[in-house]
Amino acid sequence: MVTAGSAGAARAERGPGEAWPDAFPAALAGLIRDVPDYPQPGVMFKDITPLLADPAGFGATVTALAGGHDRVDKVVGIEARGFILAAPVAFKLGVGFVPVRKLGKLPAATLAQTYQLEYGTATVEVHVDSFAQGDRVLIIDDVLATGGTAAATAELVRRCGAEVTALSVLIELGFLGGRASLAGHGIDVHALISL
Ligand code: AMP
Repeated sequence: MVTAGSAGAARAERGPGEAWPDAFPAALAGLIRDVPDYPQPGVMFKDITPLLADPAGFGATVTALAGGHDRVDKVVGIEARGFILAAPVAFKLGVGFVPVRKLGKLPAATLAQTYQLEYGTATVEVHVDSFAQGDRVLIIDDVLATGGTAAATAELVRRCGAEVTALSVLIELGFLGGRASLAGHGIDVHALISL
């Protein structure tokens, strides 16, 4: 369970209007497991499953991710772990949830956006009818790394005629420069934990 005394090395980033108890980010960090060399050598995978399995930790995470984002019309989750966090955030904010999925997973007509990876490319898709014109959209994911996935997701939202209000993530890997890269795309990043 989350306790005020849980240890964690994380630094908290509190976005405008976001509120949680002062001890919360460190307690959260203690429920995220580092898995070295997954899915490939050299990657430190941030495994959020212990946090999801903890009812207080999961609830506090959803509340914090939603905090300060009252004026939105839709919440987008990025496949796959983004879905787990974005759906309850949408429910909490009283708005609809929209999945952004990897290529070929959505059944109806889609828009696709391809972006650069270190080696090769990846493509994400959204249903073309996911948003009304001018919808204010909050994007949610578990981890912000280089920002490529989030930038492509934001591009899809904009191509549908909607507006991105912010990206809200559980963990930001600051050394990979995602926040700066997304600032270049006009995207405001809110992170509960910055590493
Ligand atoms: P990026 O496009 O580089 O910002 O990568 C972000 C996506 O990759 C997110 O959907 C994350 O779920 C996943 N990801 C990247 N790095 C990690 C990591 N170290 N641990 C867990 N997930 C990661």
